[in-house]
Amino acid sequence: MSGATVRSRHGESRRAGGLRVTRVRYTERITPHMARITFADDELARLHSNGGDQHVALYFYEPGVELPRPFTTEAARAFLSVARPRLRRYTIRHHRPELGEVDMDFVLHGADQLASGWAERAAPGDEAIWFGPSPGWSLAPEAEWAVLLGDETALPAIGAILEQLPPGVGVTALIEVADRAEEQRLTTLADARIEWLHRGRRPAGELLLERASRLTPPPGPGRIWGAAERDVVRAIRRHFVEGLGVARSDTHLTPYWTRGETQDSEV
Ligand SMILES: Cc1cc2nc3c(=O)[nH]c(=O)nc-3n(C[C@H](O)[C@H](O)[C@H](O)COP(=O)(O)OP(=O)(O)OC[C@H]3O[C@@H](n4cnc5c(N)ncnc54)[C@H](O)[C@@H]3O)c2cc1C
Repeated sequence: MSGATVRSRHGESRRAGGLRVTRVRYTERITPHMARITFADDELARLHSNGGDQHVALYFYEPGVELPRPFTTEAARAFLSVARPRLRRYTIRHHRPELGEVDMDFVLHGADQLASGWAERAAPGDEAIWFGPSPGWSLAPEAEWAVLLGDETALPAIGAILEQLPPGVGVTALIEVADRAEEQRLTTLADARIEWLHRGRRPAGELLLERASRLTPPPGPGRIWGAAERDVVRAIRRHFVEGLGVARSDTHLTPYWTRGETQDSEV
């Protein structure tokens, strides 16, 4: 399930993903509210990684649904007339082809929520089906700077992007998390200034928006990447595009979740 790789003007890698039937190999609580799940399958050795913020769609079927085997992309498509999965999007944090492993980090925002609850209870041996990866965002070679903005759902993508950025690129990263215990150690060769914002009891995204609204991007070529709650992302976009006149094409701002709504509507 892999096609030709296409690179856009901004350098996104666009090789098509496929359906993966994987097993949970390890689970780890990397911070109090973030679970790292390691998925394994021999096929993952051949997964074409698009890097950056590449993500997958996890498939959740109702309990008791008997899937046809082998469960290929074609079988999944034909099975849609029998049962439809609920989809949830998650970022590939690490890919270790030599071990056939992929890590994804799940924010634990509620044991009764579909993906979050699954991640909280996941155990080695559990089956996990997902489709991907998507294209991944990357910085154009001539770029001199990047601004990375996000809440904890964006932290896996920000971590992966930072690991990819080359030396000499100036990076400002604003990351909102609940408190100091949710901070992670992030590594990069870029010239990065990472600012952790502790939300405490304030509504999710308020502090991120407040701080992003005081940010003016540096001169020269560069891009702004951000992901958080939908309304927060919209307000951040207004600040940069309408307020400061940043070209829309130099921004990549994505709603990662919507307050009071599930991701079911996307299926
Ligand atoms: C491209 C993309 C990549 C993503 N990557 C990641 C990732 O790597 N890790 C990750 O944890 N998330 C990631 N997300 C966000 C994740 O898909 C959503 O948070 C999703 O809604 C979680 O599904 P759920 O079944 O747990 O909750 P849903 O059933 O979708 O929602 C149930 C309720 O929980 C609320 N809710 C959803 N997410 C949160 C949250 N984070 N905090 C508080 N309330 C919430 C909703 O508003 C809703 O009221 C990504 C989203 C996108 C679009």
